[in-house]
Amino acid sequence: VLCLSQDFDFFYFVLQWPGSYCDTKQRCCYPKTGKPSADFGIHGLWPNYNDGGYPSNCDTNSRFDKSEISSLIGSLEKEWPTLSCPSNDGVKFWTHEWLKHGTCSESELGQREYFEAALQLKQKANLLQALTSAGIKPNDEFYELEEIEDAIRQAVGFTPGIECNVDSSRNSQLYQVYLCVDNSGSDFIKCPLLPRAKCGSRIQFPKF
Ligand code: 5GP
Ligand code: 5GP
Ligand code: 5GP
Repeated sequence: VLCLSQDFDFFYFVLQWPGSYCDTKQRCCYPKTGKPSADFGIHGLWPNYNDGGYPSNCDTNSRFDKSEISSLIGSLEKEWPTLSCPSNDGVKFWTHEWLKHGTCSESELGQREYFEAALQLKQKANLLQALTSAGIKPNDEFYELEEIEDAIRQAVGFTPGIECNVDSSRNSQLYQVYLCVDNSGSDFIKCPLLPRAKCGSRIQFPKF
């Protein structure tokens, strides 16, 4: 069906490598609940347009309602930990993501469904497993951008977007992975548009 106008076209599901958030000049703070495990964490599930633009803060009347997701809090603490300073319990990060991004997919997903979708997508992607089984490990070694993309493409079915940042010694390192998801939040799709990379051809995968 040709759809002339919709709220958004697809989601970016964005995962962050905690080692690469923490070893920058900005540093990081572990959440009140303790050091996250050495795994990718969720950054967000972001409604996007096919042309690269995106809506934000779509419902200024919305509030983050902790009671709606009370049974998910344990999973969110584990899978969507906050690393910003000062140390906090994560509610600030989840609130920010809900209000800025989640409210723009309210036509598809309510608040509970939005967080559930993200948690399920993380499980489905199983990124760290995809990389380690291809010999790409968070051990401070350098890898080719292409081998990282290939390993994720093998596991997820589609080419990911890879975002790098630089550590305090100015090495380009694996910071975030962008996967594209259909606008019901359930399946990975081929990215209509890959985000700009900012990676060197050799990328460090730091320990955490
Ligand atoms: P946000 O304002 O993007 O919308 O992010 C701004 C704050 O996030 C920064 O002041 C910084 O504290 C934190 N931040 C963003 N990117 C990074 C990063 O790569 N590493 C660290 N440690 N903090 C970051
Ligand atoms: P940065 O400028 O650090 O890449 O991104 C800052 C923030 O802007 C992100 O945390 C995210 O909220 C938003 N953002 C950046 N790029 C995109 C994008 O391609 N799509 C969407 N939906 N949001 C983005
Ligand atoms: P964005 O607007 O980029 O989606 O979200 C980034 C905002 O969330 C920033 O204001 C940043 O300070 C805050 N934040 C809290 N915890 C984290 C974290 O673990 N990673 C990132 N990237 N941002 C975080």
